[in-house]
Amino acid sequence: MKATGRLEPQPWMDSPEVRTLFDSLGRAGIAARFVGGCVRNAVLDRAIDDIDMAVDKPPETIMRALTASRLKSVPTGLKHGTVTALVEGLRFELTTLRRDVETDGRRAVVAFTDDWLEDASRRDFTFNALYADRDGTLYDPFDGRSDLAAGRVRFIGDADTRIAEDRLRVLRFFRFHAWYGRAPLDGPSFDACRRNAGALGGLSGERVAKELLRLLAASAPAGALQAMAEAGALDHWLPEYAGAARLELLISREDEPDPLRRLAAILPVGADATAIGKRLRLSTQQALRLDVMLAKEPAVDVAGGPKAWRAGIHRLGNNLYADRLLLALDAVGDWRAALALARHWTSPELPVSGGDALKLGLKPGPLVGALIEAVERWWIEGDFTADRAACLSELERLARSK
Ligand code: ATP
Ligand code: MG
Repeated sequence: MKATGRLEPQPWMDSPEVRTLFDSLGRAGIAARFVGGCVRNAVLDRAIDDIDMAVDKPPETIMRALTASRLKSVPTGLKHGTVTALVEGLRFELTTLRRDVETDGRRAVVAFTDDWLEDASRRDFTFNALYADRDGTLYDPFDGRSDLAAGRVRFIGDADTRIAEDRLRVLRFFRFHAWYGRAPLDGPSFDACRRNAGALGGLSGERVAKELLRLLAASAPAGALQAMAEAGALDHWLPEYAGAARLELLISREDEPDPLRRLAAILPVGADATAIGKRLRLSTQQALRLDVMLAKEPAVDVAGGPKAWRAGIHRLGNNLYADRLLLALDAVGDWRAALALARHWTSPELPVSGGDALKLGLKPGPLVGALIEAVERWWIEGDFTADRAACLSELERLARSK
């Protein structure tokens, strides 16, 4: 693989940890290069999330080399050639150069190789096959930089063949378009995605959800999502898709992006969150949150002002209230002030409890619970101003009237 340029020096490429790692591998005669997301983002001058490296020796050799330098390593995925190196608390994924031996559309059987171009050829998109030496020498065998500059997500090789090898690439196409693309989409790549969208049912819900949520996490994902829907790529996994208009509104008002909330914005209010959660293998917590976000009733009383907002925050908790508020896109009222309250106000604790009812001579039982709930309703109705003495006398009054 021929060098095709040079990266601007990046601080993360020359950190003491990276130097230690390259030195350790170098002593064992292992060639290592940065690859994938970190190089792609460096070219774009964007922040990187993690450092992935490609290495030209099998994982056992890598682990031996690291151990010999007293570096910790974890056999993350030996069969797939991945070892995680831990250097001073930083994690690096080191993956041996690979080629596909067998593909079935879902999982590949790979063989290790020492051929960089072979490794590059099995990657999905041109700009995901960028490599860089420790000194910044760049390798770009499929001209990924031109595609990056044009905002074009393009499959390496024949798009239909690449999708037949791994159908998840259809979803990755739209995910990368959301993060790095600009309209119009690359024609041959998009057409191949559309032709193969019918086969996405064979994927696992977890992998689909992961891609979809990553797509939704992009700063402006509406176009990619709409293209995905046009390609039929949502038909199987999210037939409830209701368009991206509410998503765009949500993005214009949200204070912090949240992929699950964005998912709620592309679904109809009242959609079956349990069914969607099962299909996409969401966690129980995610499914419950989605359920609250999609619920029709009770509507958020944005027009009701601070008193109504405080009551809502107390009932749902700060975060769920903020979710509902951000999604109440048609409600009139000062949602900005309501959101500020949800982010900063903590609802007080009810100053009386069941124990106080027992002290009044009541017997333990459902009546105690009902009385405390009645005091709580009164206390919320009074905008949380009643102190313990006032709540106690209300409790007494209610108990006497029973
Ligand atoms: P991100 O910054 O979003 O993590 P990334 O490029 O690192 O982006 P990953 O999904 O972490 O994306 O994958 C790392 C690299 O592995 C990709 O850049 C690509 O070269 C290769 N890759 C990952 N998944 C596939 C796939 N399904 N088919 C082909 N190549 C893949
Ligand atoms: Mg990555």
